[in-house]
Amino acid sequence: MKVLKFGGTSVGSPERMKNVAKLINNGEKNIIVLSAMSGTTNSLVEIADYYSKNNLESAKAMINTLRTKYSKDISELYTSKKAQQDTLQLLDQIFSRLLAFGEMRLTESDKKEILSKGEIMSTNMMTNYLKEQGVKVTLISAFDFMRLDENGEPDMKFLADTLNPILKQHSETEIFITQGFICLNNANQIDNLQRGGSDYSASLIGAAIKAEEIQIWTDIDGMHNNDPRIVDNTKPVHQLHFEEAAELAYFGAKILHPTCVQPAKFAGIPVRLLNTMDPAAQGTIINNYTEEGKIKAVAAKDNITVIKIVSSRMLLATGFLRKVFEIFEQYHTSIDVVTTSEVGVSMTIDNDSYLANILEELKKYGTVNVDRDMCIICVVGDLRTCNKGFESIITSALKKVPVRMISYGGSNHNISFIIREADKTLALQELSRNIFNQD
Ligand code: ADP
Ligand code: ASP
Ligand code: MG
Repeated sequence: MKVLKFGGTSVGSPERMKNVAKLINNGEKNIIVLSAMSGTTNSLVEIADYYSKNNLESAKAMINTLRTKYSKDISELYTSKKAQQDTLQLLDQIFSRLLAFGEMRLTESDKKEILSKGEIMSTNMMTNYLKEQGVKVTLISAFDFMRLDENGEPDMKFLADTLNPILKQHSETEIFITQGFICLNNANQIDNLQRGGSDYSASLIGAAIKAEEIQIWTDIDGMHNNDPRIVDNTKPVHQLHFEEAAELAYFGAKILHPTCVQPAKFAGIPVRLLNTMDPAAQGTIINNYTEEGKIKAVAAKDNITVIKIVSSRMLLATGFLRKVFEIFEQYHTSIDVVTTSEVGVSMTIDNDSYLANILEELKKYGTVNVDRDMCIICVVGDLRTCNKGFESIITSALKKVPVRMISYGGSNHNISFIIREADKTLALQELSRNIFNQD
């Protein structure tokens, strides 16, 4: 059995849904994980936001706009009046529920319930469409098996123990459909796996059922060697090691949610990235294989803050770094990149919610300097020390760009450069020109 996840654009219109239905109705008994139709989760976030600001009028207006859009989609998706009416009725209940939040004070769990409706709508629409096509399809609610534990992490044991028996119960089913993104927390309240988290759902489900493969279907033919939103002539990378994919996802390659790689890697299940708009394209396979001596791809992560602390106390002292890192730990702020010298240390963070507190504490130990609006450029590939000269190829590609920090040697797969966000486009273009597009 495989797990196939289709993102928001892939199910973003009735035409696209029909296209996905054709792709999944292929004689294989698989689990299909769907995102909300594109734009829906953003609208739901706005609705929740209006409610929490007590702006009921705007919340209601947005709900009605969504209702009109979905009514139109439903009339285009189905041919039979019955399928149209059944689906309209179901979605009407959802819109009534959304309107009912105007009558109450919104809790955190209410907000998450509002956000969950997009996936509930898309999966019901697809299920009813497949039924209309005569397919034996079973919709399984993610709330029945996807649960967070007391630490807010997915409860893998619960997932495997509940999902596998559900699948066994439906021996006659040809296709299973379920929602990405949504789950319950350990108090049985509605929760989610963070924005873009449907990729994570697919990977968790794949690991829980020991799937043969996890497929992430999106609007591009796999992981490209650079960010296609910024650089022209990017090309798909046909194979990545799990670690390479994880680095690229973490450092900004939006095609894959950073959390997606770990469960698949842990369970040893290959992940394939495929294009719904061009299903015949090769895409990218992510597995345990390292293509020797190859620079694979580049990614960039914005909104980075660099903090530097310089202290003569660090000279020949032990325990200085521990003191510095403990301050970040105390404020639940993770550090991405670190460089050190005999008298100072520079660190990057992407969450500056506690920056003021952290700086306050750091100033007890040395002179502190902060650079905001920075960017991490991450070059990924087989960078083991046996492969000589990569650092020089990469650094010479960046010769026009002022570099604030360089981190190399932390892993076999990654060199990171910290530059100003304003130089990001130039840096990505130069890396493409010098590394990938030399022909
Ligand atoms: P989905 O809605 O299917 O989850 P996403 O929008 O999350 O899709 O991810 C697909 C998008 O990721 C692509 O349209 C592309 O613009 C963007 N992207 C950013 N970096 C890369 C990259 N290195 N390779 C491929 N796509 C990338
Ligand atoms: N619908 C959710 C979002 O837009 C989850 C996802 O698409 O992966 O964030
Ligand atoms: Mg995505």
